Amino acid sequence: MTTTSIPDAVPAPNTAEAASLYQRLRGHLAVLKLHDAAEALPAVLDRAQQTNLSMTATLEELLSIEVDATEARRLAGRLRFACLPTPASLADFDFDAAAGLDRKLIAELGTCRYLETATNLLLIGPPGVGKTHLAVGLARAAVHAGYRTYFTTAADLAARCHRAAIEGRWATTMRFFAGPTLLVVDELGYLPLPGEAASALFQVVTQRYLKTSIIMTTNRSVGEWGQVLGDTTVAAAMLDRLLHRSVVLNLDGDSYRLRDHHARSENLRKATTTPRQPLQ
Ligand code: ADP
Ligand code: MG
Repeated sequence: MTTTSIPDAVPAPNTAEAASLYQRLRGHLAVLKLHDAAEALPAVLDRAQQTNLSMTATLEELLSIEVDATEARRLAGRLRFACLPTPASLADFDFDAAAGLDRKLIAELGTCRYLETATNLLLIGPPGVGKTHLAVGLARAAVHAGYRTYFTTAADLAARCHRAAIEGRWATTMRFFAGPTLLVVDELGYLPLPGEAASALFQVVTQRYLKTSIIMTTNRSVGEWGQVLGDTTVAAAMLDRLLHRSVVLNLDGDSYRLRDHHARSENLRKATTTPRQPLQ
């Protein structure tokens, strides 16, 4: 009497059937456009077999490859769209070189929570103090957090709106500037803006008001915006909307001098107004 060992009792694997199953699986992944999972499939299946991985763990591994690749593609797409002009990031911002800047506030802005409340940020200061660096760093943080972000300069925005008006694409262009969750408008006040730029900028600010955030950088104090925009009424109305829900950061070294000045005045005031102690 012959005894049949257990391995022999298991029908030999039908390799043709297994191969066709495998091909069908690859086909499904291709139809679903899960190309990275399809490419990783043989390696994942081999590893699963070698390490006796459970079906759940195998599927998780396969799909996490696809999810990682999708997220990397989306991030690259958002970065391309954002048009960030420099590789600056918040991590390489030197706070010691920017005396008076509130580290905690920048760290809070770095979390991107302000975007959820459509809060604006105004960075004011003379050239070279790091306004663009901070704006790019915050824009980069927003891109990484998954927010659609777009970086432009005031001059470029004005020029683009001007062209759009001539070419009959005003509405499309306005929709474009309304789209991103974060719009950075760099360098307001550096170049004289043409006449109609004020109304273009005003419309961009107005349509984003209380819906999406703007980071604006400028070398001019808000008191000078009437002059910058060539229209005090439009400048006032724009500032009204921009500052309604906003954080204003002054990167001007002057503000520090002003603080020293205030401290000195305060000391002087105390010295001159403290009642004299009676002579002992
Ligand atoms: P602004 O926009 O205020 O004119 P930028 O942001 O363009 O100034 O800064 C000028 C240069 O100096 C940039 O290369 C920027 O990266 C660098 N920079 C300015 N401030 C800092 C800082 N605090 N830490 C690191 N780099 C800085
Ligand atoms: Mg700048």
